[in-house]
Amino acid sequence: MKKKLIAGNWKMNGSLVVNEILVKALVAGNGQGTCLVAVCVPGPYLAQVQQLVAGKGIDVGAQDVSSHEVGAFTGEVSAVMLRDFGVRYCLVGHSERRQYHGETDAVVAAKAQRALAAGITPIVCVGETLAEREAGLTEEVVKRQLAAVIHANGHCISEVVVAYEPVWAIGTGKTASAAQAQQVHSVLRSQLRAATPQADRIHILYGGSMNAANAAELLAQTDIDGGLVGGAALKSAEFLSIIAAAQ
Ligand code: PEP
Repeated sequence: MKKKLIAGNWKMNGSLVVNEILVKALVAGNGQGTCLVAVCVPGPYLAQVQQLVAGKGIDVGAQDVSSHEVGAFTGEVSAVMLRDFGVRYCLVGHSERRQYHGETDAVVAAKAQRALAAGITPIVCVGETLAEREAGLTEEVVKRQLAAVIHANGHCISEVVVAYEPVWAIGTGKTASAAQAQQVHSVLRSQLRAATPQADRIHILYGGSMNAANAAELLAQTDIDGGLVGGAALKSAEFLSIIAAAQ
């Protein structure tokens, strides 16, 4: 059976002092757990966190990557640079990137390609807005977002992680019910099955106000293979409880 994956997304939070306290607590509390754990940290802290978790069973992730390979792209960070810092995962297409930075499905697909080419596992985020859900467009939206990544990545699609993150549930305290989440996850799984015979080994994470109280029920669903955790990943006890629920 595949291990669940719990990935924290710190977003634009942290400092050298705060990170050290948080990561040391995670390392101490994580033990020899049976699930995969990662923290996706702001770029400047990759080296610090990499050092703190080295050999401790926690992987480091980035929150974004350039869609370009190298060159005159001021402010951008390439996948190969991330790899230099031991980055194992990279979020691509988080709704905050799509919303505030105009990332299109095509850009997200190119970012996933760059990550894969550098040996980094992209965590491809898909999800509908509240207006799209209310208009009955949830399936259409997530399938369109995932299709772009499948199309660009061919047989390598079996190497990605997918995160279903309903936009209306991110940072709002509103969580999709376990049944709502499972329904969308099963749609995504079917789409992946049509694209690769390896679809069942792909992790499909749920993200959107996951916390210690709701994690167990969400993680018990057939097609929910882990969580992408924002706010609750900044509190060590809460994040450790979610990890425990995944074991
Ligand atoms: C996220 O940022 O990916 C996320 C799921 O945030 P939160 O858990 O705070 O809703």
